[in-house]
Amino acid sequence: RGERAAMAEKGAASRPPPDVDTDECLREYRHLFSPDILAGQVAFITGGGSGIGFRIAEIFMRHGCWTVIASRNLQRVLEASKKLVAATGQQCLPLCVDVRQPQTVVAAVDEALKEFKRIDILVNGAAGNFLCPASALSFNAFKTVIDIDTIGTFNTCKVLFEKYFRDHGGVIVNITATLSYRGQALQVHAGSAKAAIDAMTRHLAVEWGPNKIRVNSLAPGPITGTEGYRRLGGRFAEESSHFEVIPLQRAGNKTEIAHGTLYLASCLSSYVTGTTLVVDGGSWLTSANNFPAMLGIASSSAK
Ligand code: NAP
Repeated sequence: RGERAAMAEKGAASRPPPDVDTDECLREYRHLFSPDILAGQVAFITGGGSGIGFRIAEIFMRHGCWTVIASRNLQRVLEASKKLVAATGQQCLPLCVDVRQPQTVVAAVDEALKEFKRIDILVNGAAGNFLCPASALSFNAFKTVIDIDTIGTFNTCKVLFEKYFRDHGGVIVNITATLSYRGQALQVHAGSAKAAIDAMTRHLAVEWGPNKIRVNSLAPGPITGTEGYRRLGGRFAEESSHFEVIPLQRAGNKTEIAHGTLYLASCLSSYVTGTTLVVDGGSWLTSANNFPAMLGIASSSAK
């Protein structure tokens, strides 16, 4: 009876799992999903060397998956892969990719297939972002974010489709954002780029469903221990009563995003396609979208 009461403790269903704020593996991990839910599978994760992408790779590997982590900085993914292998005992192939350049994606997917013979899951996590008012945003800055986020996501989806998913099926999870839902200040570039990816998710889900390919987006809210949070939200969160306006009264952590991604990538979501899973504690519904206040944050974080 005592054990049952402890399990049903108040708020247990919204208590965050432990995490670490750096790009290190978790010191402890308690499986909530079946530990072999991804056994025998291979995931190709862009942006897998840092932040949210790194934690997704770790959680997938803790569930029996082998991973390919790919980004521009080879040193970064090399070091990340060593940590991931040491912590999980699974295999991880670090590869250099610029998602803006389709030929680098083709080369990486070829290498991954040569090494692992299969790819079951694609996670598009690569992205670029910064705070900037539209009036100060250069033409090139806007284009660069669209190139990395939107076009980069299309490039990897198309290469994976042609090289493997068309014939074998697969799962795609695109990491997007809630920025466009209310027109977040200083984020026209990233908001537009991510909104286009959410549209892409629906188009590809419809066209590729008959090939047994599921395509979904996951939109994180403010997530601690990430470059995005440090640059875009950290100072804001520290300096104001930011968390009080979030329905769940806190930021999320990387493991929570990885768990949502694991759900979308695994057979647990076998009938889910063409949708966006928002993992933000209800944040976008209530958080401030105050242009002058955000401008203050932008100029102080640029120092
Ligand atoms: P992050 O660590 O900076 O992740 C971005 C990753 O993308 C890096 O590993 C980077 O590696 C890679 N990348 C950038 N440009 C690339 C390119 N052209 N080709 C290949 N890889 C590239 O930031 P994060 O905060 O964890 O963000 C991860 C994802 O979550 C992003 O899609 C972001 O938009 C989304 N998100 C984050 C938050 C948050 O609170 N952090 C909120 C909403 C959405 P290299 O530099 O080595 O290329």
